[in-house]
Amino acid sequence: MEAVRTTAEGVITLKTKKVNAFGTEAADALLEQLHIQRRTPKSHDVEIEILYCGVCHSDLHTVRNEWHGTIYPCVPGHEIVGRVISVGNYVSKFKAGDLAAVGCMVDSCRECDYCKEGLEQYCEEGNTGTYNSPDKHLGTQTYGGYSESIVVDESFVLRVPENLDLAATAPLLCAGITTYSPLKHWNVGPGKKVGIVGIGGLGHMGVKLAKAMGAEVIVFTTSSSKFEDARRLGADDVVLSKDEDQMSRYAGKLHFVLDAVSAQHDINAYLSLLRVDGSLALVGAPEHPLPVAAFSLIPYRRSFAGSMIGGIAETQEMLDFCGKHNIVSDIEMINIQQINGAYERLLKGDVKYRFVIDMASLKKQA
Ligand code: NAP
Ligand code: ZN
Ligand code: ZN
Repeated sequence: MEAVRTTAEGVITLKTKKVNAFGTEAADALLEQLHIQRRTPKSHDVEIEILYCGVCHSDLHTVRNEWHGTIYPCVPGHEIVGRVISVGNYVSKFKAGDLAAVGCMVDSCRECDYCKEGLEQYCEEGNTGTYNSPDKHLGTQTYGGYSESIVVDESFVLRVPENLDLAATAPLLCAGITTYSPLKHWNVGPGKKVGIVGIGGLGHMGVKLAKAMGAEVIVFTTSSSKFEDARRLGADDVVLSKDEDQMSRYAGKLHFVLDAVSAQHDINAYLSLLRVDGSLALVGAPEHPLPVAAFSLIPYRRSFAGSMIGGIAETQEMLDFCGKHNIVSDIEMINIQQINGAYERLLKGDVKYRFVIDMASLKKQA
């Protein structure tokens, strides 16, 4: 097939391939099977058969237009692992048959200061998200990993450590890097007391990574049913965040807090856990603003920050770190046909701790 586009340089015709995918046509519609176009690989492109794709809460926020700006049809999925089918003429990092992974970005301007520093996620022109971003090649929006294959420039394709379980590696591509990057940035390591808030896909990876970095890790959860797991994941202590007495044990005690909560919550309760000069980094992205009291920050010279995914080189560093420390996600495998039910369970916090879609289930339906 072909896609025809009019650009500043004139009319461009691109060869494309029809691919099975799962997505939605509207914020209030269920996800269902649909078809999308993928470009045929260009000189620097890698074509990947998707074997597994993790289910991030951002998929749900986007599908339901909770952050506004979703373009439909929307095919989510940015925790992608698979096998290389073909490569363009100039590709040097990958060959057909290799394992490969794609995370939250598939491109950026590559020229701004941030791109040059390996901070492509903060590209001045905006990075090209794996889904719901303008597709520079086809002129449509980008489509994510709930699909049978994807074509990505090799600069944005990651290597997968061979010793890790492939399906359980998929969530590292978002949940892993989104927690690894701030933990590194705020120098988490030996001698540091670190709080992880919200034990979902991101939070459970945060516990494993902070522990592997050598920190003392305290989990803050709203679910008493997660206490045992939190310890198994590596937590040194667990606090039921709804219980003020338990919370007061850590008031003013922590060097760093990573907040991975997807819904409304009282951020002041977690800011009060920080020591002088401590920082709380928000990675969770609830739909509505979180009010901050001035006196949650002023008395201890505390910082309230945010952090978005991680750069490409840092994502590779994180994958290699996980390979070395044998770290993967705790997953529950689902078929693509179970995705709508999985979203409902995600909203209830009923997942231990990441759904991963076996993409072979999509092919059966083709
Ligand atoms: P998830 O698996 O659904 O986990 C969210 C966790 O938040 C839940 O397991 C629960 O943990 C806690 N929680 C949920 N509702 C709560 C409430 N009302 N009050 C307090 N705690 C609550 O989600 P995820 O995939 O880890 O994603 C988490 C958030 O990070 C989402 O908003 C997502 O969009 C965002 N995200 C941001 C980035 C970034 O670059 N910054 C990247 C990926 C995802 P407990 O049961 O332990 O309380
Ligand atoms: Zn994500
Ligand atoms: Zn840039």
